[in-house]
Amino acid sequence: MPEGPEIRRAADRVAAVLVGKTIEAVAFGLPQLKSFEPRLSGRTVTAVDTRGKAMLTRFDNQLTIYSHNQLYGRWYTMRRPRMPKTKRQLRVELCTATHKALLYSASDIAVLDADGLAAHPFLCRVGPDILDRQLTRQAIIERLDAPEFRNRAVGSLYLDQAFLAGNGNYLRSEILWSAGIEPLRKPASLTAAERAALAAATLSIARRSYRSGGVTVPPRLAAELRAEGRSREDYRFHVFARDDKPCRRCGTTIERRTMASRNLFTCRVCQPAG
Ligand SMILES: [Zn+2]
Repeated sequence: MPEGPEIRRAADRVAAVLVGKTIEAVAFGLPQLKSFEPRLSGRTVTAVDTRGKAMLTRFDNQLTIYSHNQLYGRWYTMRRPRMPKTKRQLRVELCTATHKALLYSASDIAVLDADGLAAHPFLCRVGPDILDRQLTRQAIIERLDAPEFRNRAVGSLYLDQAFLAGNGNYLRSEILWSAGIEPLRKPASLTAAERAALAAATLSIARRSYRSGGVTVPPRLAAELRAEGRSREDYRFHVFARDDKPCRRCGTTIERRTMASRNLFTCRVCQPAG
């Protein structure tokens, strides 16, 4: 399932063909959106933003296409007049003079003005995007200290889009291991140094995964492991999906358990109980 880094990379591809361009043709595959086609045709796309798994394609007339990828939504970008080979349902088609961006399969799509964005239930509920360049370590520490989060287990918080949008299952295991935090611990029980380490790991792991296309180990280590002939599945993560393999830091066997209904991977030595 895509997490924040994968959605942001999809948004980058869409932005590369649409931002600053006039949209010559717009087509929606959902009948309730048809009336927006003439209102968006001939307008210019100003930005493609993300909030977790939601993508916001912004136009110069203050309208925004909100699309949530859910499990199956998929964006394609290509030169006109090519079309992708797919049996999926076409939901959004945006054409410039030279390119097109196409969204397939997603069904949670809306066209919103500023008031609609401000009142949208998903956007109202989610926290700041984990890949937002404005997000700082200090802002994450303040969220960890907030009354609604400070007494919840960090292993649950790190799947909750209300805490940070774009967080997801592999990022949770990787961030908590990198910071040396046991998932059952609560922010209120962490020392200032532990909170700072958790905030730093949150930003560094998410940004590295975005830059590398989903690899969370440092580039030098990834290169070494590749040189040993390891497959991508074998070098991509520190702990995620590496149960029964040795911890890359201490050699202890990685353990798998379930928390908030999803698999979670930890090292009991690197992530001691508080
Ligand atoms: Zn370890």
